[in-house]
Amino acid sequence: MTEGMVGLLLIYLNGEYLDYSEARLPVDERGLQFADGIYEVALVWDGQFIDLDRHLQRLERSAAALELKLPFTRSEIRAVADELLHREDPRRAAFYLQVTRGVAPRDHRFPSEIVPPTVIAYLKDAPLDQEGLAHGVSAITEPDLRWLRCDIKSVSLLPNVLARQHAAARGVREAILVRAGVGVTEGSATNIWMVRHGSIVTAPESNWILSGIVRGVVLELANAENLPVAERFASQEELMQADEVFLTSTTSFVTPIVQIDGRLIGDGTPGPVTTRLQELYMQRLSRLAHVAD
Ligand code: PMP
Repeated sequence: MTEGMVGLLLIYLNGEYLDYSEARLPVDERGLQFADGIYEVALVWDGQFIDLDRHLQRLERSAAALELKLPFTRSEIRAVADELLHREDPRRAAFYLQVTRGVAPRDHRFPSEIVPPTVIAYLKDAPLDQEGLAHGVSAITEPDLRWLRCDIKSVSLLPNVLARQHAAARGVREAILVRAGVGVTEGSATNIWMVRHGSIVTAPESNWILSGIVRGVVLELANAENLPVAERFASQEELMQADEVFLTSTTSFVTPIVQIDGRLIGDGTPGPVTTRLQELYMQRLSRLAHVAD
């Protein structure tokens, strides 16, 4: 398959590999009815899964938090991922995996144990924003209106959807969420970082944020470089006065944020700490992609 041309061609659905047009679910699917499910997005880089095990571990944590029994072992779902990769053979893609509490007549209560969860997996396009990676992107701040368990990667994403839509309507890339009484939590689909007085600051692992896989990797890279890091909530004022701001996610890597709410961060260009971490992150991607799995 050609570079960057991964469409929704092949869908894994409950044990079958189907053409997109054949993959169908009933109306009383609990993902649709109640957003009663979880998901993961992992990167394929140079034809290899990156950090798939960390993603599957997080899926297991999300499942446990929702009392959802996963219908596969880690190696079984890895085999599904490998099969999709084998059949579609993209150089670069996002692997999407979703598990919901299955199909049952509409009732808030869990269905009986004999209802199998719905498992969906596919590869999708993951275009690189070369311009944003090199020169930075803009963002807005938005109130964080989400529930109290943002650590669960649930398919219930309505506040994230609204925040990202507000960002798009303003012509910017991301909405940075600010929780009343807490501070800057994260982006609508990214973790947020700032550099201030030489220290890197990002929100601590807690119920207020999703513990990003890239967040964890960037913390490791910063530690290995002896860069000072503080895991704490920044205030909105601190963020606006930061020397550097950046976001991280599986499909955005380390992307500089150079403008927030119409105001420049620093001199409006990516700063040295962001640039260094981005470089280290991209080097790690290449390294992992070239190590046989
Ligand atoms: N926070 C939220 C709310 C997200 O949706 C994502 C993307 N999955 C992230 C952070 C970044 O997580 P990761 O580094 O695992 O992609």
